[in-house]
Formats: sequence, structure tokens, C-alpha cells
Amino acid sequence: MKKKFHVAILPGDGIGPEVMQEAYKILKILKKKCFINFIFHEYDIGGIAIDKYGTALPKRTLLGCESSDAILLGSVGGPKWNNLPDEKQPERGALLPLRKHFNLFANIRPSILYSELQDLSPLRQDILGTDINILCVRELISGIYFGSSERKDSIDFGEYAFDTELYYRSEINRIADMAFQIAQQRNNKLTSIDKANVLKSSKLWRDTVNNLSQKYPKVQLSHLYIDNAVMQIIKNPSQFDVILCSNLFGDIISDECAAITGSIGMLASASLNENNFGMYEPAGGSAPDIQGKNLANPIAQILSIALLLRYSMQLYELSDAIFETIKQVLKKGYRTFDIANNTQDYIHTNQMGDIISQMFIKEI
Ligand code: NAD
Repeated sequence: MKKKFHVAILPGDGIGPEVMQEAYKILKILKKKCFINFIFHEYDIGGIAIDKYGTALPKRTLLGCESSDAILLGSVGGPKWNNLPDEKQPERGALLPLRKHFNLFANIRPSILYSELQDLSPLRQDILGTDINILCVRELISGIYFGSSERKDSIDFGEYAFDTELYYRSEINRIADMAFQIAQQRNNKLTSIDKANVLKSSKLWRDTVNNLSQKYPKVQLSHLYIDNAVMQIIKNPSQFDVILCSNLFGDIISDECAAITGSIGMLASASLNENNFGMYEPAGGSAPDIQGKNLANPIAQILSIALLLRYSMQLYELSDAIFETIKQVLKKGYRTFDIANNTQDYIHTNQMGDIISQMFIKEI
């Protein structure tokens, strides 16, 4: 591959820099052995940027991201910055503005329960059935988190507050279109979540998704109300393949799917815009409780690269090779602290990175 592909690397805080070191090992293999012309640029974000520049998202970082083809993020935040005003906090001050700035309207989060890790799941074996592989497509920059909201006092009834769920048909259309396309690349099965029996915004959601389904006749579309969906996910998770949700419902459902798989250290996510520009990151946070102990699981960060290869570069085989490598590593019994059970020895962050790298070289 001749064309240069610039990646803005934002290790961030807590375990972010530790797991990013392991991600670099895979990026370097992709560069050397697969001839991907990656160019890496590292920038500060989150708490470390507050300490150095007084802001969670310095201009230099934003400009660096603007001149890149994708962003690979570690994690931000930690107790040191908890007492700052809301809008200055690492997550509020850096991640939300980045999503808005790059119009990252689609959040894609695969939740995979590998058969080797079934005993980590809080669900019973007979409920889990075969392997679980659910992909949540969540609208990320609209809906109730961005609608008008207020908290006030009234003379007659005392204090009150409200939040507004507002969706334009065009916003539903673009996220649904992405979900249908992803469903086509997988098993042609899409479940859209709403509350169309009560909410007007959900009625528009369902109408829009139904209209769009005519463009995708091969995709088997079904609808579930959110209350039923959260039940179905714990009663029979293997019935799901691709799930489409609004911002609020996706926030809930994607964490529920994550919980089923047992460890947050295994889950990666992608946030994309219409031009395949994406921000790729672990689903978990900066894990201050294990920071600096070489205990963090680097798999989520490494799988973020697999998502980058798939969604920003359309390098499907290499992306699948990373997922397959992780499967093989687990099959061989290698575990970090978070996924080891009482009877298993665990290996450290850097050792897991080395083993994944060695096995990835054999896989490609
Ligand atoms: P967290 O995800 O950081 O940690 C929750 C638990 O999961 C902890 O026990 C942690 O040790 C464990 N964990 C997380 N990632 C792991 C990994 N890779 N390997 C092994 N174990 C892992 O959530 P939290 O404790 O609620 O938040 C800590 C900080 O992270 C807060 O400041 C929060 O604001 C921030 N945060 C950042 C992001 C992000 O950067 N996208 C997301 C969530 C939380």
C-alpha cells in the first residue's frame, strides 16, 4: 500500500499510555510486514493535556487530528481531575467536542463472547448458547443528550427539569443506512430498538427505518421496544446480530451487551462520520485502580486497530486476522489479570502484547 495513512495517536490518561504501547507493536507489524504506509503522530488529550496546556483538548491536538485519516485513542480521565467544573473534565472537555467536531454520528461496538471466556459472563451457560457476537450501532451526536434541557424553579410546583429527545428524519436515515450496510456485511439481520408505542421521536425512528428497509431487501429487519430489548438480551442473546439504537437507548444497550461478555478490557469501539473518518478506542475508561501496575488488558486497544482497518481502510482480511489472533491467544490459555479465573496464572500487559504480536505475525 503506497498511499500514506496518517493516524493521530492519543494515549491519554491512566492505563491509556500502557495499552497504547502494546497497540504500537501491532501497528509496527502492519507497517513492516503488511506494507501499510502508516504515519503516526502522537498528541496529548484529557487530564495530561489539562496539566500541560490547561485544556483537555488543546488546539495542537485538534489540528493534528484534522490532518490525520483516523484517530486512535487510549482513554481519558481520573481522580486527579474529578473536581474540575463539568465542561472542563477530561471526558466532557475532550471526547464530546471531538465527536461533534468530526461529526462522528455512528458509534459501532462489537460485543463478542469468546467460547474460551464463557465462565466470565454473568449469564448461565444454557442461556449463552453458542458464541455471542452482537454489534451495536448507536447514534452518537443527537437525541436527548443534545436536545434542549433545563433545571428551574417554578412558583406553583417547585423545582422542575426537562430534557428533549429530538431527531430529524435525516439523522435517523444516515445512522440506519450505516446499520443496514453493516448488517449486509454480516448475517443480514438487523434489530432496531425504539419506544414507538409511546414516544413520537420513536415513531419517526421506526417509520424512517421501515422506509429505508426497502433499499435493503436482503436484510431481515425487526423492531423491539427498549423495555423488551433489554430483557431479550439477557434471556436469549444469541438471537441478535446487528442492533440499531438512538443515542440514549444505545448507551444502555451497548453497556448491557458489554456486561454479557464479562470484561470491559476486551471491547473496542469505533465512532465514524460519513467519510469513513473514525475515532477508535477501548470501550472502558482509564482504570485508575490498575494504572501503572502492568495489569491492564491491551486487547480492547488492539481490537481498536482491527476496527480502524475495517471501517476507515476497508482492509477486511487484516481486520479479521487481528480478531482471529485474539481468539487463538485465548484458546492457548493466555490471560491477563481481568480475564483469569482463580485457577489460572495471568500474564502482564506487555507480555500479552508480545504474545499477540508473535501470533499475529504467524496469522498474516
Ligand atoms: P473504567 O472502565 O476505567 O474501569 C472500570 C473497571 O474496569 C475497573 O475495575 C478497571 O480496572 C476495569 N478495566 C477497565 N479497562 C480495563 C482493561 N483494559 N483491563 C483490565 N481492566 C480494565 O471505568 P471507571 O472506573 O468508571 O472510570 C475511570 C475513569 O475513566 C473516570 O475518570 C472516567 O471518567 C473515565 N472514563 C473514560 C472513558 C474514555 O476515555 N472513553 C470511558 C469511561 C470512563
